[in-house]
Amino acid sequence: MITSAKSDAEPLVEQARIYSRSEHNISRSQISDNALKVLNRLQREGFDAYLVGGCVRDLLLGREPKDFDVATNAEPDQVKKVFRNCRLIGRRFRLAHVYFGREVIEVATFRGAGETKNDKQVLNNEGRLLRDNIYGTIEEDVWRRDFTVNALYYNIKDFSVVDYVGGMADHKSATLRLIGDPETRFREDPVRMLRAVRFAVKLGFMLDPDCEKSMHDAAELLSSIPAARLYDEVLKLFLSGYALQTFEMLRHYGLFQVLFPATESSLAIEQDGFPRLLPIKALENSDNRMAEGKTVTAYFLFAAFLWEPVQIRAKEKLARGIAEFVAYQDAANEVIARQIKSTALPRHITMAMREVWSLQPKFNMRFGSRPSRLITHPRFRAGYDFLLLRSETGGADPELAQWWGKYQETSETEQRKMTQPPRKAHNNKSGRKKAYRKKVSDGTTGTE
Ligand code: ATP
Ligand code: MG
Repeated sequence: MITSAKSDAEPLVEQARIYSRSEHNISRSQISDNALKVLNRLQREGFDAYLVGGCVRDLLLGREPKDFDVATNAEPDQVKKVFRNCRLIGRRFRLAHVYFGREVIEVATFRGAGETKNDKQVLNNEGRLLRDNIYGTIEEDVWRRDFTVNALYYNIKDFSVVDYVGGMADHKSATLRLIGDPETRFREDPVRMLRAVRFAVKLGFMLDPDCEKSMHDAAELLSSIPAARLYDEVLKLFLSGYALQTFEMLRHYGLFQVLFPATESSLAIEQDGFPRLLPIKALENSDNRMAEGKTVTAYFLFAAFLWEPVQIRAKEKLARGIAEFVAYQDAANEVIARQIKSTALPRHITMAMREVWSLQPKFNMRFGSRPSRLITHPRFRAGYDFLLLRSETGGADPELAQWWGKYQETSETEQRKMTQPPRKAHNNKSGRKKAYRKKVSDGTTGTE
């Protein structure tokens, strides 16, 4: 019998259930050779060594884990002594990274139960005592983990799975259940709500009813999380291959509005009786691309999320008599400035978003040498994909998108023909040129 205190108020007494090798489906052939090397080596040196977290969860489901995390009773300095190819990272809680070419195996020492409770003590102290306080036993380590299915330990000693929290049963019933009281656990770290959505969608698991209820109530807490951390989480959420389902679930729990407030408001405004479909279509395309093994970029999705908010603001400015170019620039600046308060966006991302947006009016200029120059723009492809999205969702003329599709595929001779200005029965040659020049400069050429 092992007694573990998750918090003062709630002592937890649990006994680990050990699933022997014959009672589970994790085989060593599914584990990366490098992870096995780390586990075996730690064991040979006399330490306990387990695989833990997402990799055990994924192996049980017969999926290929993204990475392999190791938990051990060896302290970081001891881990470093065992592996030459090892670097210690993190200040307060030190982790060991063991490098094998491009693969990194993260080795974490078991965390103690006092770790969160004695935060201040830990921060104000340095040295040995502090460490004693942070590091703990496997029985303590388990309680700081988020979901029961993420808290299973694969023991290299006998290939068993160690389960303190009923994670195996939850696996079988495809349930995502928080360890401990959901409200407390969400309050401790509101990012766990985003993780709940991510795992529910990725694994096809149901949220346990208590967890679900708390999520509705706790969504607002997410706004207290630093924008930089939320940016990292948002990438994981939307570059997962299940972006559309994730988006819908985040909206359902009121989490999306904390992450993308301007997008959420714009989704509420219908256009000709239809909801705004561009973000939805962008997510769908992104999932399809992932399924085909193609790359997806974060900036494209953010550009899609924030396109409508920029349009709305720009139109307000135009109505106030502000010049078109300035109106769009200012609108983009304002929308981005607001967004980075919720989820930080690195500069390369906002630059790329702006480029995609600013290419859009340029697609209207179909005559003369402009198309041949536009096509060499480094973001042409993304800009064109964005134009397609707009045309599919009622924001641009489908004929325009088709024209650009054809222009890219055809021969140079044909391209020249396509970009000839329309000839009109006209005697006054210079007058015609002037009129054309005017059209090009105000961007109206080719839209009629
Ligand atoms: P993924 O497949 O996305 O890597 P993962 O479960 O491995 O999923 P990580 O972020 O790599 O997720 O975290 C590893 C483990 O650390 C988790 O399985 C969980 O046990 C624990 N963990 C991570 N983040 C939290 C958190 N915010 N609160 C509690 N435990 C966490
Ligand atoms: Mg992981």
